[in-house]
Amino acid sequence: MPDLSNYNTLRSVLERNGFNLKKSLGQNFLIDPTVCPQMADEACADADGIIEIGPGAGVLTTELAKRAKKVVAIEIDTKLKPVLKETLNEFDNVEVVFNDVMKIDLNELIKEKFSGMKVAVCANLPYYITSPIIMTLLEQQLGIESITVMVQKEAAERLCAEMGTRDCGAVTAAVRFYCNPKLLFHVPSESFLPPPKVDSAVIKLDIAEAKQPDDVTSAEFFRVVKAAFSMRRKTLANCLSSGLSISKEAVYDLLDKCDISRTARGEQLTMEQFISLAKAYNKE
Ligand code: SAM
Repeated sequence: MPDLSNYNTLRSVLERNGFNLKKSLGQNFLIDPTVCPQMADEACADADGIIEIGPGAGVLTTELAKRAKKVVAIEIDTKLKPVLKETLNEFDNVEVVFNDVMKIDLNELIKEKFSGMKVAVCANLPYYITSPIIMTLLEQQLGIESITVMVQKEAAERLCAEMGTRDCGAVTAAVRFYCNPKLLFHVPSESFLPPPKVDSAVIKLDIAEAKQPDDVTSAEFFRVVKAAFSMRRKTLANCLSSGLSISKEAVYDLLDKCDISRTARGEQLTMEQFISLAKAYNKE
């Protein structure tokens, strides 16, 4: 089996198959032998069925295939067909689906390919659509155990931030609604071909372990969260008034009911405060 985390091996596999890397698809391939085994260990500790997004040349896919019962890898770039045919040819537990992860019906895919199995997602994500992919995976309520992904370092810090801290944003609250996030380790830009301009980090979103709030729906919660973070450097009261299209007086009323300061900012709120705000707003 070729060692795809070796720079020269990867280059020759790509060249042999006439493949040129595309910046527009976030094609920075991993060439660090330590990263994929660790990511695969994390994902496969939770599940026997793995969905990988963007296998590229297959460096992570091969590590997943060694550990999981079944791997389904979703890749948008059909030009990678001959590359993956070569690099994955010795595994009979891997299937590559050529499609856009944002367009495919993941619930159907899980039903069809992983019947009776626990499923987890593992990926070195294309950075141009990190948040949309993570939100799609969470919002579709796929019944998966966990999501172990490499993302841009700044995105990792935001996704795993504690509520009530400066790094926190709408996506932080969204992640906390569905799962327990954990930043696992950092990865320098030299670990990729070509090296991106930014450093990266691997995070794990534990869905199975998290308890979702049962007294507020995700739609009710997100309406308030999106409004709360709709304008940078504005107070929560201003954001809610404009984002929810209600008067400042009505917003003050809501904040008072929830024991939240009228001068607070969105990033200062705890998860419990967002939930009580969402409940109070939706009762009105
Ligand atoms: N897993 C490989 C690795 O670690 O070397 C490649 C990771 S590379 C950062 C991201 C991969 O995602 C590329 O193979 C790219 O073609 C693929 N990709 C980009 N957008 C995608 C999409 N919307 N759906 C599925 N795959 C996508």
